[in-house]
Formats: sequence, C-alpha cells, structure tokens
Amino acid sequence: MLREEKADGTPLGIEADSLTRGGNLVGDKIINSVVAAWLSKQGGDGFVFDGYPRTLGQAEALEQMLADRKQPLDVVLLLEADITTLRSRVENRATCKACGNIVSIGLQVADASANCPRCGGVLIRRVDDNAETLERRFAEYAEKTAPLISYYEKRQLLHRVNTERLPEQVFAEVCQILN
Ligand SMILES: [Zn+2]
Repeated sequence: MLREEKADGTPLGIEADSLTRGGNLVGDKIINSVVAAWLSKQGGDGFVFDGYPRTLGQAEALEQMLADRKQPLDVVLLLEADITTLRSRVENRATCKACGNIVSIGLQVADASANCPRCGGVLIRRVDDNAETLERRFAEYAEKTAPLISYYEKRQLLHRVNTERLPEQVFAEVCQILN
C-alpha cells in the first residue's frame, strides 16, 4: 500500500518513502491513515493484511476500524522463522523492476544477474534489503511488534506458523487455517 501511495506521489507516500529509505518503520498515524483510506474503498468480502498491524497502536486502530465496518477480525497469522534464516532470506532477496515479483537468488534464479522468471524483467535489490537494516528492524520488532502476540492470544485469534519449511508446506498450512 505504501509503495502504491509512493508511486501515485501522494503526500502520505512521499513521507513514508523518506522514512523507509532510512530503514525505519513508518509511524502509526501514517500507516493507519493509509489503511483507513484503502478500507474505505473495499467491499464486505474480506481481505488479508500482510505486515499490518505492527504495533499496539495499529492493532487498536484496526480493531476500531473493523468494529465500525461491523466486520470483525477472524484470524491472525504469526509466520515464524529463526533470525539466521531471516538473515539469509534478506541477503538473497531480489525484486523484479517490471512486475514486482520477489525472488530468492539461488532458489528461483541462479544469480543476481538473472532476469525475472515470470516476465523477463530486470531484478534489483531493494535499498532497504541489507544486514544492518534487518538488525534494526529486528530490534524494532522485539520492542513494538512482539507485544501483539499476547494481544491476539488473549483474543484467541493467533495461529503460529513455522516457516522453516518448504514454501508449499507453509502455504498448505496457511490455507488450512484460513479454511
Ligand atoms: Zn517480473
């Protein structure tokens, strides 16, 4: 959503972009505004957020927004992996400039000079994909996001998914939970 706001050149997008470039997470106020704007355009069929909410302030705002829509939250997924696994994923991740496809170097493509397996576009590393950014994000996660685990456990919505397995196995378990 933030990348769309940025591509559209909205004030929210520009502000968010300057923050994410420095590897920082964007503040609750901006994120909640982006989500509220997006939600106002959705019908009642349901949706999945990826990477939101990330703080208690966001979780509380989401709870209020969903209550206003009379559309309560059904499921919260916690996709877990060890920090060493996350380091290796970040080091090997590239994004297609043309279609936005995310690939793992050494897995879907042989090396960083390969083209996108989906559309043939050029693969680039995101500027915020590096070890230093990951360490900062991880510290921020421990401080701000980890408290959401007990927040959603109390509401009996949390499902933990071990992602240290093949993507197909993780996907199958996520589908099973959602179904
Ligand atoms: Zn592509």
